[in-house]
Amino acid sequence: MLRTQYLSTGCDRLAESLADGRPTLIIQDLDGVCMGLVGDPLRRQVDAAYLAACRRLRGHFFVLTNGEHIGRRGMNGIVERCLGGARQAAGRYLPGLAAGGVQWQDVDGAVSHPGVSDAEMRFLAGVPERARRFLTEFLGRPGHGLAPSQVATLVDAAVLDNRVSPTVNINVVFEALAGREGRYGELQRQLQAFMAALLDDAAGQGLKDAFFVHLAPNLGRDGDGERLAPSRDGMAGTTDFQFMLSGAIKEAGVLALLNRHFARCIGSPPLGADFSVRTAPRSMAGLLDLAESAFARRWMPRIVGVGDTVTSSWDADGRRTRGGSDRGFLHLVQELGRRFGTDNAVLFVDSSGGEVRRPGLKRDPHTGGIVAEGISDAEDPLRLNFVLPGGHRQYVDFLVGLAGRIGRVP
Ligand SMILES: [Mg+2]
Repeated sequence: MLRTQYLSTGCDRLAESLADGRPTLIIQDLDGVCMGLVGDPLRRQVDAAYLAACRRLRGHFFVLTNGEHIGRRGMNGIVERCLGGARQAAGRYLPGLAAGGVQWQDVDGAVSHPGVSDAEMRFLAGVPERARRFLTEFLGRPGHGLAPSQVATLVDAAVLDNRVSPTVNINVVFEALAGREGRYGELQRQLQAFMAALLDDAAGQGLKDAFFVHLAPNLGRDGDGERLAPSRDGMAGTTDFQFMLSGAIKEAGVLALLNRHFARCIGSPPLGADFSVRTAPRSMAGLLDLAESAFARRWMPRIVGVGDTVTSSWDADGRRTRGGSDRGFLHLVQELGRRFGTDNAVLFVDSSGGEVRRPGLKRDPHTGGIVAEGISDAEDPLRLNFVLPGGHRQYVDFLVGLAGRIGRVP
């Protein structure tokens, strides 16, 4: 049984067991899973062997990311650079949902935005320029001691002009302000306020509840939305401030992907052709009930969810807080496995070896077992069945091996 495994490093056994029984559907996060985390997202690279494995796994494999397929920082550019151009990449783009589920693409790179209106697209188009102005003003303050050219470089690297999920990623600022944690913390708080002001502005334009702000990593949720993770003890805390379309959450994306998977298997989408994450239920219980009522058990695949951003820590008041942008979709994968009896598995890839500081897996010096301090805990309802301490390189090797077992020869 895969689901009874806990923090197991036995991924070879996993690949073996996935070759038997029910067809497998892999739903995989991107950054930190198949690519290392780097301070400047423009420097991300992907391995050709990984792309070849994904191609062999066609029909068994979807990506699910809060990043985007398209644009200057999109995954497609990384794929094209790896393969030598857009012509070579045709048929080899990574299929699945980006921007938290509102951007769909197939293997030919044909992109659509299911459920998104023209007015929403127009508002989103203005966000990157406003973010650039905000960040230029903040970093240019005399007390920060940054030269204008340095400010311009930082702003350019930090503001991601994503089409449907414009983002400010302040990893580069954390590095530039090294040792001055107070100023970085001030930027975190002011960015959060800047994003809240954008929400108000949208509401004034008739787009109330059209958007929300996603923080990564975060400290879970409260009544006001996701909770900021302040920088602490040399850790950057929240680095990504994403302006997202409401409903663009990965767990809803799991159902949208299953809808497409079923359409391929049985000829029609059980949730309807117009189903999108924008119309999906917002709660885990609602998503599970909808899945159970719509998807036939006999066609339900065994799902393997793969992510790298899961957190569990204590807040300033001594309360356990659990968060992380992959937590929700991985938890839904786990619970779907229970409801449908499909023995789903959750894989955690340790991305702490990259340039972004975050908690990593450790070995207990006495027992030799894996310890996931800062990531999960003994009472965590999300059980990380398998872990890959070797990060994205180990995951790519795993996927190449799996493609050899269950993939098709292209
Ligand atoms: Mg990730």
